[in-house]
Amino acid sequence: MQLMIYSKALFSTWIYYSPDRLLFDAGEGISSYMGNKIFAIKKIFLTHGHADHIAGLWGIINSRNNAMGDREKRLEIYFPKDSNAIREYFDFIKRVNSELKYELVFYPIDESDKILIKDNGNTKRFVVPFRVKHTMSEPAFGFNVVEERRKLKEEFLNLSKEKIVELIKKHGKECVTYSYEKKILTISGDTMALEPSIVEDTDLLLHECTFLNRKDRKGEIHASLDEVMELIQKTGVKNVVLYHISSRYESTADRIIKKVSNHFTDLNLEYVYPGKLWIR
Ligand SMILES: [Zn+2]
Ligand SMILES: [Zn+2]
Repeated sequence: MQLMIYSKALFSTWIYYSPDRLLFDAGEGISSYMGNKIFAIKKIFLTHGHADHIAGLWGIINSRNNAMGDREKRLEIYFPKDSNAIREYFDFIKRVNSELKYELVFYPIDESDKILIKDNGNTKRFVVPFRVKHTMSEPAFGFNVVEERRKLKEEFLNLSKEKIVELIKKHGKECVTYSYEKKILTISGDTMALEPSIVEDTDLLLHECTFLNRKDRKGEIHASLDEVMELIQKTGVKNVVLYHISSRYESTADRIIKKVSNHFTDLNLEYVYPGKLWIR
């Protein structure tokens, strides 16, 4: 299992990414769905302060304190620094849970930040927030999970493996290779369709798609299917999961999404059925 997602627009959304034990958003019901897996969560990233994305946080914090499991494990929560709703909610949680058995840390973040989530010597991974267009009253982020990788410099491309190893031993890897960043996961958060530059070259795009029919939308705060498909076409992203779909499409989602994805060859498009757990 790499990803576990629950998402139903207006009600609850959360995304668990198991390779790095990250939780993106924490809509209601998450603790009962995840059960003892909540002890695996290391870091929680909140996209914004709407209740359908944060209401389950209090449950997680309490369950980790009381359920059977590793109760001493520290938990870190990252949130958009100018979200008043989230700050108020945290103040309440801190007040009513003053005697936690583990360390709970809140980190306000901004779009210029880069949060290190993994460093095993060879590979470094970061979560990089970006601002998105959602409601006026609530600042909202999406997130890229980015991996720092190394590539051979052009002037060494036609050398043998042995020769390259020798050069690295002699001069260090900085001299023979250069580092670059690869997006391995993009999570849109609640937003209109993302800017192509944010999405380009990502291995997997999770994009909100509240409206499968643009005519159903009132106000420009969520994405519609045609806009997301346009983004896919522009960027050439190959793996996409649509989520945050309105429950009004429960009976029609399959037909509508299949119809549009038929026009794309080479696209692996899936969607999180509103109200059902999605696991891959
Ligand atoms: Zn939402
Ligand atoms: Zn929202």
